[in-house]
Amino acid sequence: MSLFNKVVILFMPLVPKFIVRQFSKRYVAGARLKDAVDAVKRLNKRGFMATMDVLGESTTEEKRTREYVEEYLSVLQTIDQEELDCNVSLKPTQLGLLISADLCYENIKIIVEKAKALNNFVRIDMEDSSCTSSTIDIYKKLREQFDNVGLVLQAYLRRTIDDLLDLTTQKSNFRICKGIYVEPRFIAYKDPHLINENFAYLLETALKRKSYVGIATHDEKVVWHALRIIEQLNLRKEDYEFQMLYGVDELLGAIIVKAGHRLRIYVPYGKEWYAYVMRRLKENPTIAMYVIKALFTKKYKED
Ligand SMILES: Cc1cc2nc3c(=O)[nH]c(=O)nc-3n(C[C@H](O)[C@H](O)[C@H](O)COP(=O)(O)OP(=O)(O)OC[C@H]3O[C@@H](n4cnc5c(N)ncnc54)[C@H](O)[C@@H]3O)c2cc1C
Repeated sequence: MSLFNKVVILFMPLVPKFIVRQFSKRYVAGARLKDAVDAVKRLNKRGFMATMDVLGESTTEEKRTREYVEEYLSVLQTIDQEELDCNVSLKPTQLGLLISADLCYENIKIIVEKAKALNNFVRIDMEDSSCTSSTIDIYKKLREQFDNVGLVLQAYLRRTIDDLLDLTTQKSNFRICKGIYVEPRFIAYKDPHLINENFAYLLETALKRKSYVGIATHDEKVVWHALRIIEQLNLRKEDYEFQMLYGVDELLGAIIVKAGHRLRIYVPYGKEWYAYVMRRLKENPTIAMYVIKALFTKKYKED
């Protein structure tokens, strides 16, 4: 990352919240469940599947984790009532991982049970490397009882191929992505080209071992590798899906769907939109630059 981009990122927390809010509209469906439902209805109409994410992470109060469980239960109920083509994604630290692994497991289990009853599916997002082993353990324990739960694997982690080989002794369901957290070189690949190579290697290994894979990327080079692997393994459309984030490179999404592949859009919503949007902006300093420019124009009004 260039020095200029680093400076842009450094200044981001100084940008007034109401300006960041304008940009949040691109990445976050809204603050309420109804906003997410409306967004998913629009996506479904265009032929995209969706996964809803209730924004929130690093919860330190047990009571708050229970509230998130309740929220996820009503999300699942609403998806069912509204007949949406949509599942849910959740974060272990939102559901208590920083308090205790047992609490987190129990909380996620309640959500997975409800999803099972409604014939739906739960994806466990992967957070920073301090959470990797405990998240995998929770997934393994859940997977012993439920087939409607899946895990995320990050291509930038050196350990991921070993995790994948271990997990694919059983039938598994993964989302593979590059990984979003800042990790030390000791445990994570830093070279973007190598991360792409590892993504392709993990994807091919998982698919050959009959796992279902959500291929989560907006990088056309990775999409190209995925299409090559899908073709070479002669896979059916039901054996995999592409996944992208709400508001990112819709043209690439349309190209993927037009070519006959399934694509799921990750739709976050909730009151805790600020942390999520700041992370997105840090990932993409070009957009962050627009936010900072907006500081010096009168285009945005506080709402
Ligand atoms: C559905 C989905 C779920 C994810 N779940 C997780 C998870 O559980 N754990 C985790 O660590 N990471 C997760 N990620 C994030 C992922 O790890 C990457 O950080 C992110 O997708 C960027 O990598 P990329 O493959 O798109 O390639 P990049 O090379 O980073 O991006 C390719 C292109 O897309 C643009 N782009 C990428 N992301 C954004 C963005 N947010 N806003 C604007 N433009 C963007 C870039 O500018 C670039 O032009 C998820 C991503 C997706 C799509």
